Amino acid sequence: MKPINEMRLRIESRSVNEAFGRATVAAFAAQLDPNIEEISDIKTAVSEAVTNCIVHAYAQSVGPIYIWAGIYENGVIRIKIRDRGCGIENVKQAMEPLFTTLGGERAGLGFAVMESFCDKIKVSSKKDVGTVVTLEKHIKGRENADA
Ligand code: ATP
Ligand code: MG
Repeated sequence: MKPINEMRLRIESRSVNEAFGRATVAAFAAQLDPNIEEISDIKTAVSEAVTNCIVHAYAQSVGPIYIWAGIYENGVIRIKIRDRGCGIENVKQAMEPLFTTLGGERAGLGFAVMESFCDKIKVSSKKDVGTVVTLEKHIKGRENADA
């Protein structure tokens, strides 16, 4: 299906840009009339994905994070967060709750949070090439308001 509207953003993997990335996607999603909880869910999920690019993908360096978001006629927003960092060797294992390669520093809950705040999540990754996280959420805020 083709999106009826889309946006693209490229930010550097600096912590200071994480809030910018999440707020930009939330502002774009606002056209679907989400309720406060849905906006907060989107911000949280994007924040986790962008933070992973900053702390894992480009752990010892600074690199580009590409964010794309598309809105579909059925009220779905799809968000892609892509990096060209170190990649993930075992995606299935990485997505297990509490799995982290930065023990002591991180909780290993980022993917679990993205999963619980979105309807769908897909992670594709290749070692030393990069990672793409695709999030999908059906925004119902508008429908509730009409009811
Ligand atoms: P938390 O998110 O709770 O602070 P975490 O980042 O370790 O901890 P997840 O976000 O669930 O937990 O990620 C699990 C693991 O997947 C990470 O420890 C890391 O090894 C790997 N990972 C996640 N995203 C990326 C990425 N963009 N590039 C490379 N590795 C990643
Ligand atoms: Mg994380």
